[in-house]
Amino acid sequence: MGSIDSLCQRLSTYLEPDQVDTVRRSYYYAEQAHTGQFRSSGEPYVTHPLSVAEILCDMHMDSESLVAAMLHDVIEDTPINKAAIEQQFGATVADLVDGVSKLARIKFTSREEKEAENFRKMTLAMAKDIRVILVKLADRVHNMRTLGALRLDKKQRIAKQTQEIYAPIAARLGMNDMRIELENLGFHATYPMRASFLESALKSAREKKLNQIINTQNALEERLAREGIIAQVSIRYKHLFSVYQKMRFEKKRFKELIDVQAFQIVVGSVDACYRALGALHNLYKPVTGEFRDFIAIPKANGYQSLHTKLVGLQGSSIDIQIRTHDMNAMANRGIAAHWLYHSSKEGEDNFGGHNRAKKWVKGLLEIQQQAGDSLEFIENAKMDLFPDEIYVFTPKGKIIELPNKATAVDFAYAVHTDIGNHCIACRVNDRIYNLSSPLQSGQRVSIITSSQPQPHPSWLNFVVTGKARSAIRHYLKSERQHQAIDLGKKLLNQALKVHQSSIETLSEAQQQFLLQHYRFEQLEQLWEDIGMGNRSAFGVSQFLFPDQPASLEGFTMPAALVVDSANKIVHFARCCRPIPGDTIAAHCSAGKGIVVHQESCRNLNDIRSHHPENLSPALWAADISGEFLVGLKIDVKSERGVIASIATRISEKGASIEQIHVTNRDAKHASIDLTAAVSDRIHLANVMRFIRVLPTVVRIQRTRSG
Ligand code: MN
Repeated sequence: MGSIDSLCQRLSTYLEPDQVDTVRRSYYYAEQAHTGQFRSSGEPYVTHPLSVAEILCDMHMDSESLVAAMLHDVIEDTPINKAAIEQQFGATVADLVDGVSKLARIKFTSREEKEAENFRKMTLAMAKDIRVILVKLADRVHNMRTLGALRLDKKQRIAKQTQEIYAPIAARLGMNDMRIELENLGFHATYPMRASFLESALKSAREKKLNQIINTQNALEERLAREGIIAQVSIRYKHLFSVYQKMRFEKKRFKELIDVQAFQIVVGSVDACYRALGALHNLYKPVTGEFRDFIAIPKANGYQSLHTKLVGLQGSSIDIQIRTHDMNAMANRGIAAHWLYHSSKEGEDNFGGHNRAKKWVKGLLEIQQQAGDSLEFIENAKMDLFPDEIYVFTPKGKIIELPNKATAVDFAYAVHTDIGNHCIACRVNDRIYNLSSPLQSGQRVSIITSSQPQPHPSWLNFVVTGKARSAIRHYLKSERQHQAIDLGKKLLNQALKVHQSSIETLSEAQQQFLLQHYRFEQLEQLWEDIGMGNRSAFGVSQFLFPDQPASLEGFTMPAALVVDSANKIVHFARCCRPIPGDTIAAHCSAGKGIVVHQESCRNLNDIRSHHPENLSPALWAADISGEFLVGLKIDVKSERGVIASIATRISEKGASIEQIHVTNRDAKHASIDLTAAVSDRIHLANVMRFIRVLPTVVRIQRTRSG
């Protein structure tokens, strides 16, 4: 392991001196913060962040990433917080460290492949800056390299997570070298015996063939040199873990897996690639149909190379890949290659690597959209740079995918329609959270339900998923329907009573008669129609019993309609604004449905004389609760602050003002019209009494109808 001095020396080959100084300063900061902490190997803890920074230095990452690497465990493991880091090293570094810490906090528990997939997506979605992922991957590489001192079960747990989460993420970001290292280290930790047995078997089998391979390598090199092409020729084998997987899952035989995967030829320019190809096709005969030009037509993940297959000596086949240094870096390092060759001080290109990586993914996205080809890699790289989904946990650790800006109500419906319908509140990471506030990736959400379903129409204003929206609509509609049917039956029974009849005692013939006449398929539809106020119950009863004209005169109907808090088909008349405690009557009218008035409301007089059958007495449910609007008219002496003092008094009594309108009557007097929300008549009386005692108030009264 190196020291901070040797790291800084290496950094100075590609970073500015002041940037190197900042990295050095962050090392001392971390050293102090982790004082007294040790790794399980016994070394001081700071050796770990230093090694992570070294890995990022190999990748030529920028100074902010390196500083973040030095500090990556400080928030989690020491008393230092994000704000302190921001003060010392700036907001970008603080965000990076915070991002890495957040990833450390989410726990992966499930064993299912689908969950692992969601977890990978969530990891990507949580990191707003791709560098968070790169620091996290470097952290994981170092932890995997130094698993040795840990207990076996702990080793295996970390290794499994590496195999399931981090190696695939590296693969998706095109970071092949890192993926291979993580997979091989993971394999060694999970199955130490199998891994070392297979490794040594491969080594000796490959060594036996080494002479022949080196001969081929030499032949390739000589021919390229003769053509004046400067090239590096290297040998690539399948890596240990992929050999194991191919034997295990593809039932391939060991013999098939020991061969060279490809000879890789790296040259200086695109032009040299094609010249090298020509030279080698001249050396050995190419296999027809095996040549692929991924330089002219890159793979959807940006991979570029020329591929060909040659027939070597004794008929052996030789796989060849030819590419430039840049293409090689892309193939091995993927997204991290964008930091490799360009430092921000060079020339016209002022982007940092992060921006270049962003641009690159964006470019790939455009290619992908044009080609209509959906590639996993891009899909997931996109997630990080253009997040449009969030991932949250259920209390049991299941991961739910939701669109951006989704709320707890969306979450509840995503889990189950019943949970959505019964949801009344929620907790996020164990704290009460607003049902209408957007959730964020990584949060753990638990829904608090009630025994009674309570979807509220206002939910439609903030839910974003189609599932929640349609479930809420469906619930509200069927609830209204239910209430309308109930009410219709009550109203009709009340009208039928005059004829000593009732819905329950209607004969089969009478029922058919009704269905035919009103053209409904089911009687419930008729009850609903009555309940909605589209048809009068009196009219229906008259139709059934035309020979017994009922006199409404002198007949007092029992209070049929009970107005309760849950009732959503009843409206309150604006003219007289009834509140609980008032004597009320219900008016059923086509189109408007059921409207509740004060019984004394002037607007009922006309209805009483012309359409008494449309009126029904009504009662308030005993347990009614909620807020009801009421009109107040207050005459006051015009004085500074009079409105404020009235408003204060109203809210001190627990009522709220919905509307207020002031008219000046003369220089000394004004009149205030306001609408307040109260719970009932007693509440209103308290409010009015409280206002009346103000010396500036001349008169206060409840607004009469009209
Ligand atoms: Mn760490």
